[in-house]
Amino acid sequence: MIDLDCVTKSYTKGQPAVNEITMHVDKGEFVFIVGDSGSGKSTLIRMLLKELEPTSGTITVNGSVLNTMKHRQVPKYRRGIGVVFQDFRLLEDRNVYENVAFAQRAVGTPARIIRRRVPEVLRQVGLAEKYKSLPSQLSGGEQQRVAIARAIVNRPAILLADEPTGNLDPTNSYEVIKLLDEINARGTTVLVVTHNRELVNQFKKRVVTMNRGMVAHDAEVGEYLEY
Ligand code: ADP
Ligand code: MG
Repeated sequence: MIDLDCVTKSYTKGQPAVNEITMHVDKGEFVFIVGDSGSGKSTLIRMLLKELEPTSGTITVNGSVLNTMKHRQVPKYRRGIGVVFQDFRLLEDRNVYENVAFAQRAVGTPARIIRRRVPEVLRQVGLAEKYKSLPSQLSGGEQQRVAIARAIVNRPAILLADEPTGNLDPTNSYEVIKLLDEINARGTTVLVVTHNRELVNQFKKRVVTMNRGMVAHDAEVGEYLEY
């Protein structure tokens, strides 16, 4: 599903942000990516979204080699990937329903399918009753669940989450990771960048630990170790 072959990203001279990473993620896997601030986690995620180009090395996602992908193919490629960020990034002047429906309209989904799919995905994230609320009327945990609903509404093969619990308390953090785990159980490949040691150790998933742009540790049923 995801293949990184000796991938390096240098923003400036000196130590690369990502340094010769070779890594493989199978279809249907759930992977935590952990590591200190500045270890290259977000750079890795942004290269997977083709927001950043590697300085060297090859990235293959879902059979497509990103390095040689044409500009006009990038929007379609990105539609196959759901993304969630620490700061939710919701449309503040639209209600919950509209925030999720927007993602479907953007890809030209027919109205009748949107009317069926949005309530379905809001139920899946436990927010069916809040469809009329504005983001400002929701807790942080609820806002992140809206963002997750938006990320999965078009049924992406891959879901990338960059510190999705960074702004949440422990209870909401747990709920968000549990939800990502449920999404994974339905077949989506999930990569979660996090600093949350307790959650990582609780969920017993594969853990890739990054340190100074390199993979310091890759454990099948891993722990969040100190580096
Ligand atoms: P993490 O997400 O693990 O905190 P990042 O991938 O954001 O790490 O950053 C890795 C390294 O690359 C850091 O040293 C950071 O300062 C540097 N970096 C990140 N983005 C940029 C950028 N746009 N320009 C220059 N340096 C950057
Ligand atoms: Mg980061």
